[in-house]
Amino acid sequence: MMAQYLTLKAEAADCLLFYRMGDFFELFFDDARIAAAVLDIALTARGEHDGEKIPMCGVPVHAATAYLQRLIKAGHRVAIAEQTESPDAARKARGSKALVNRAIVRVVTAGTLTEEALLDARSDNWCVAIGEAGGDVALAAADVSTGRFQVIALDAATLPAELARLSPAEVVASEAGAFIEAATSMRPKADFDSGTGETRLKRLFAVATLDGFGQFGRAELAAAGGLIAYLDHTAKGALPFLRPPVLHRAATTMAIDAATRESLELTQTAGGQRRGSLLDAVDRTVTGAGARLLAADIGAPLMDRAAIDARLQLVAHVHDDAGLRERIRAALRALPDIGRAMGRLVAGRGGPRDLGQLRDGLDGAWALGERLDVAGAPPLLAQLAPQLRGHGALIDLLRRALVPSPPIEASDGGYIAAGYDVALDDLRDTGAGGRRAIAALEAEFRQQTGVTALKIRHNNVLGYHVEVPARAADALMKPDSGFTHRQTLAGVVRFNTPALHDVATKVAQAGAHALAAEAAHLEDLTAQALDRREAIAATADALARLDVATGLAERAAEGGWARPVLVEHPCFDVEGGRHPVVEAAVARAGDRFVANDCCLSESSRLWLVTGPNMGGKSTFLRQNALIAVLAQCGSYVPATRATLGLVDRLFSRVGASDNLARGRSTFMVEMVETAAILAQATPRSFVILDEVGRGTSTYDGLAIAWAVVEAIHEDNRCRCLFATHYHELTRLAERCEALSLHHVRAREWKGDLVLLHELTDGPADRSYGLAVARLAGMAPQTVARAKAVLAKLEAGRAKTGGLAAGLDDLPLFAAAQLAEKEECDAIRAEVEALDIDALTPREALDTLYRLKALA
Ligand code: ADP
Repeated sequence: MMAQYLTLKAEAADCLLFYRMGDFFELFFDDARIAAAVLDIALTARGEHDGEKIPMCGVPVHAATAYLQRLIKAGHRVAIAEQTESPDAARKARGSKALVNRAIVRVVTAGTLTEEALLDARSDNWCVAIGEAGGDVALAAADVSTGRFQVIALDAATLPAELARLSPAEVVASEAGAFIEAATSMRPKADFDSGTGETRLKRLFAVATLDGFGQFGRAELAAAGGLIAYLDHTAKGALPFLRPPVLHRAATTMAIDAATRESLELTQTAGGQRRGSLLDAVDRTVTGAGARLLAADIGAPLMDRAAIDARLQLVAHVHDDAGLRERIRAALRALPDIGRAMGRLVAGRGGPRDLGQLRDGLDGAWALGERLDVAGAPPLLAQLAPQLRGHGALIDLLRRALVPSPPIEASDGGYIAAGYDVALDDLRDTGAGGRRAIAALEAEFRQQTGVTALKIRHNNVLGYHVEVPARAADALMKPDSGFTHRQTLAGVVRFNTPALHDVATKVAQAGAHALAAEAAHLEDLTAQALDRREAIAATADALARLDVATGLAERAAEGGWARPVLVEHPCFDVEGGRHPVVEAAVARAGDRFVANDCCLSESSRLWLVTGPNMGGKSTFLRQNALIAVLAQCGSYVPATRATLGLVDRLFSRVGASDNLARGRSTFMVEMVETAAILAQATPRSFVILDEVGRGTSTYDGLAIAWAVVEAIHEDNRCRCLFATHYHELTRLAERCEALSLHHVRAREWKGDLVLLHELTDGPADRSYGLAVARLAGMAPQTVARAKAVLAKLEAGRAKTGGLAAGLDDLPLFAAAQLAEKEECDAIRAEVEALDIDALTPREALDTLYRLKALA
């Protein structure tokens, strides 16, 4: 057995091996140590291997799912080795001591789950593969629980942003490729061959050419092929259901990198919670599929104005008709998750309840589709409505075939409805008749023996048997009593009789046949559902889209949000904007959120925001970034009015000291991230920078902030909100024509600081740092001391012309760059003109001196 175990273990070296032994999955050696620690179960020992006791632990098969969940959550992969024949068959074939054959039937990994219990109903579960070919990079992503499959063309620079958007449960890469660091699972290089990838895709979708799905590049084929190979590997050949791939070029969505997602807390907070995120603040969906689609939408705002408008029209339609909205939501609320039920059926792990969910879901979808009035409705609704109907035959079949609430497992039968199959009904009648006969026998035996406490019982060892209290057993023990003794326990004695045996055999046979008949029906019904999987998946999608739209409309109505107007030119005009998460927090504290306008245009594209700490600068910056995200998702926005130019890339950076939780030197992180913005932001981008430069000394910090503002203004020319406490930066307003100054208002009243959270034009007159310190409860004598120090500092600064003295003479960023370029050009001209062969050593030395002087 150990030899067999070790062979299987070698096949799944990177997994914990669940080795099936009867009613348990057993783990041995290091696997046992790891699992015992993670699962908090007892570690025992068994036999010996190389003279050492073998550590072992086990989990019962019937409860394996819960244990699997904990192991997967803890980051492990689990290979399941099942018995592939019964012990009886093994004995018959290979003698009484034969070892049962076992094989790994599945590798359970975080990215390949379909079990309801293992999945979060409200998030997608992506398994992603990275492909590379000829310098290009692509991602292939599949959610096997719903069959969604996308292939994304990108480049090495945008890969992290795409990975951040998908937030995959698992990332697979070639063990010989360049992206090992991003990967959680490594596979052989051959799996990522683009030629093989093309063949795999064609075979999977049974097509002669992939042109119908789009034009695939080599890297895309490599990624898709690598992903299919991996899924095939984990499912051991029973490849899960995948829908035809949807090909994305990254440019169809707003690019948002990982740092920005984290800083804006789009779908989860910095602490990893969904609560407190933008998603949580806008999510009013009522189905798991709707919640998953909304999370995906928020993670990938669109760049295509027509597509955004199509979504907005639908939201507006249900926003303006509260009755319609409530009817749709009530209908959706009652629906099961058909996408995931289908996923399990396709993976071969479905059961009667999944078919039941399919029946109820499709039935509900149909009824909803019937009730939607598409005359005069937005095009998107007219397009969704027909997808809701059209499974009439399947619904009818499932309705006739299944009982109202079928069990999860097929093993006990009882899920096929009476009247669906006459032969099955007969078998059930026979079984029921037999059970009635057994009840009758009990009465008969009692009368015959005079033992009123006599009972007929059933267990798995003896089957049906007669049981009497020990004190009454004597009568039945007599040889001529007709009863055969089977077992004596404390207090009771058990017997068999030929009459009981006959009936029991009939009941058992009828039961076994009935079970087999039900299983055959289950298989047939599943096959019929699978035949329609494309259309069913489309229905599930249509339901999710409706849920998202009605949920967004609900949220908009609740918060008095406005429908944004999207335009192509880079403007950003928001009236009465609010931050949905902060607003909720402020309201909980019994306060009122102060709405603020933000009006950026080509001639005023950079706003410098100053004002006291806690004054609302960050909130203002973020709310505008969130408004851009929401608008391009096709949502209403928390404002009274908004006209927005499409944003191609969104960036958000927060000064280092706010991010102390991170591991790397925080100032280093801040600089790396800021450098990325300067390298990537285009005139169509939107950037918010909060206290950049704060993580270092005052001079360094001011210098960096100054240079960054100039570069953004002169070079990137994107829309930007820049919050800072460096007052000196306000001098830039005189030099940068598209930069304007704004501040959050505060007032000192009777010696106390009142933060008004209201944005107005112009620089803040002072920083109120001491007032904030007092507000924070610092001791009066400390504040008084600080005041004295400040007075000294300010006197000194006035004498020298201040921290930024002399900066006014600096040429602007672009001018400085130009001067540098002229220098380089001069040196290059000189070098190109050199004829080295004609130079004497002396002349060569002179030339070097001249070049050095030019630099
Ligand atoms: P700053 O970045 O200027 O230090 P924040 O934006 O972090 O300030 O805001 C600090 C706190 O002030 C927030 O947590 C919130 O409670 C409150 N606040 C911010 N903006 C507003 C607003 N517009 N209306 C009401 N309260 C606000």
